[in-house]
Amino acid sequence: MNSYIHILLDLDDTVFDFPLSEKTAFNKTMEKLGIEDADSLRAVYTVENTKCWKQIEQKTMQREEMFWRRWANTFAAAGITSDTPYLEINSMYMEELSKLGIYLPGAEEFMKKLRSIPGITISLITNGTSQSANGRIRASGIGQYADYIFVSHDIGYDKPDVRFFECVLNTVKDTDKEHYLVVGDSLTSDIKGANNAGLPCCLFAKDGRFPEGAENLRIDYKTASYGEILNIIRG
Ligand SMILES: [Mg+2]
Repeated sequence: MNSYIHILLDLDDTVFDFPLSEKTAFNKTMEKLGIEDADSLRAVYTVENTKCWKQIEQKTMQREEMFWRRWANTFAAAGITSDTPYLEINSMYMEELSKLGIYLPGAEEFMKKLRSIPGITISLITNGTSQSANGRIRASGIGQYADYIFVSHDIGYDKPDVRFFECVLNTVKDTDKEHYLVVGDSLTSDIKGANNAGLPCCLFAKDGRFPEGAENLRIDYKTASYGEILNIIRG
């Protein structure tokens, strides 16, 4: 019998289709900048942006640097220049992104079913900037299913920092760690964070392709199905 009553749910690539939001926001931004072939440039951006976020997780880069660095690196790698300052490009992109809270297929139904389980609390836990994360939460309406929302930029710590999770535990106000279940798609932020904080965890892969590099991590559950997550919680 499981005893999970506080569900800590990651957003991007767990319930939100971040690649689709990112693609839409990126293409709109490039259109405004008059840059053609946005699809090729987006492939470069995805690589550079991911590198920056890994550095933030590892604390080798500050968030403020990331705001311009990801664009500087993208444009340099693609061999193009822009008259618009990188920070301004970032603002344009974030503005577009903040309007786009797009669910993965089946995810909204999952949220409704999760909400209908009696006696549980739901916390949304996301690494992201305040503007984009809170904007996308608002746009999607997902807040109606949640008791608590934790955006790393608002808290001051990013997953997998244990202080991010301490903030969650202090808010939920239950000291029994066995009552918590972290659900997320990322080994480096969600699963590592759950390991750091000593919380049970479930690795979710929307397409059934589980990431590599899990050797030194404790993963209590692995699933590609929202139904299975509900079954785990229902015990
Ligand atoms: Mg995620």
